[in-house]
Amino acid sequence: MQSGDLSFLDSVNASFDLAADALNLPNGLAHQIRTCNAVCEMKFGVELQGGYEIFTGWRATHSEHILPAKGGIRYAPFADQQEVEALAALMTYKCSIVNVPFAGSKGALCIDPKKYSLEELEHITRRFAQELDKRGLLGPGVNVPAPDMGTGQRMMSWIADEYQKLHPNEINARACVTGKPVHFGGVQGRIEATGRGVQYGIQEFFRHKDDVKNANLSGNLEGKHIIIQGLGNVGYHAAKFLEEEDGAIITAIIERDGALFNEKGLNVELIYQHKMEHGKLEGCTAGTFIKDGNKALELPCDILIPAAMEGVISKSNADRIQAKLIAEAANGPVTFDADKILLKKGVFIIPDSYLNAGGVTVSYFEWLKNLSHVRFGRMDRRFIEAQGAKIIKLIESGIDKPLDEVAKMELMKGPDEITLVRSGLEDTMCEAYQEIKEMHDSNPKIHDRRTAAYASAIRKIADIYDSMYL
Ligand code: GLU
Repeated sequence: MQSGDLSFLDSVNASFDLAADALNLPNGLAHQIRTCNAVCEMKFGVELQGGYEIFTGWRATHSEHILPAKGGIRYAPFADQQEVEALAALMTYKCSIVNVPFAGSKGALCIDPKKYSLEELEHITRRFAQELDKRGLLGPGVNVPAPDMGTGQRMMSWIADEYQKLHPNEINARACVTGKPVHFGGVQGRIEATGRGVQYGIQEFFRHKDDVKNANLSGNLEGKHIIIQGLGNVGYHAAKFLEEEDGAIITAIIERDGALFNEKGLNVELIYQHKMEHGKLEGCTAGTFIKDGNKALELPCDILIPAAMEGVISKSNADRIQAKLIAEAANGPVTFDADKILLKKGVFIIPDSYLNAGGVTVSYFEWLKNLSHVRFGRMDRRFIEAQGAKIIKLIESGIDKPLDEVAKMELMKGPDEITLVRSGLEDTMCEAYQEIKEMHDSNPKIHDRRTAAYASAIRKIADIYDSMYL
């Protein structure tokens, strides 16, 4: 976090307050919704090769108006409680915004995962799962973690397995965590989900011509110049889909060691492969290497997608940002203070609380799959294909000639799991965008999309509280 800006947690709370002030809520309710219900700090020893090592972890349950509470677990050397609380709060608002029936939670472990072997990480993760379980912070009906920075599928399967061992009679045990590998109770499309959600969110923005005009843009995604910060899971998928499917031009990619720039466009897949092989962008000949990567945030472009850390756009650089649209794929990439500067400059911001909710949305689908114990499409795929065949037969007999074979195959194809997951995610992202826009357009006290997104979340949570205490 840059000095002089509000902290991440204070930024989240300040944005919340702006939105709550624009709503007519019963006295004290906003405060109740904003308050983090519980934070647990855990210190636990793990026996590793060199002896015992003590680890510090947290799980914050920001809200419990619906259960389970949901949110990722981050493994990072600089994780701290305040950051976990901020991220847990964002989870509450995120789930509400995209109409996913979860409360908000988040966890972190203070660790640099790169410094440990796979066996050690397994040992540490299983111990963390035991600690969470012991404190009632893990379970399909209470609290369901997922991957976040520094964690992934494999760790989620260790957590699920550990929970299963601790609760052998729990038939829904695997639903205690999402983001698992598909062969271990995961769902197709979870890995790409956050990046895919970013793509769907930006596509939906371009369907609203008044928004496009307000951002001083025109047309659609085709040919738009995009800068991506962070080529991790979220940034990679968002950039790849926008380049390959929407025809956008990725002019710069920023990573930890620097940035690559090419005005004509970068091949995302090629650069990602280079990063996987060498652990850095330097040396990749696809573009000009810029050592001070953060400078690349300030290059001219249509869309800037920060997809890595919080606080990368702060008071110190907001004034120099030239993007017309900022699409927040990371959690909290723009500080509260930077937000004010950017809005004054006329930059349109699609906020994190909405735009990166694709991950938790598909986590919800995975959780539903685990509870139903059946893969999406298993019951109706053949039925839908048979219906399609009947319709084609009718059409062919009506026009008295056979339909084109390719078109026929398309019409007859029943949906598989990945198709259904993407369709559910797209619908979710489009609907939530429209709800936020409606909140913005209908409330004269709201002047930007972040405030509108928060207001949309708060309104829905307040309604739940209202009906509970009638
Ligand atoms: N860590 C992701 C997020 O920040 C996913 C959370 C989840 O799937 O529960 O949204």
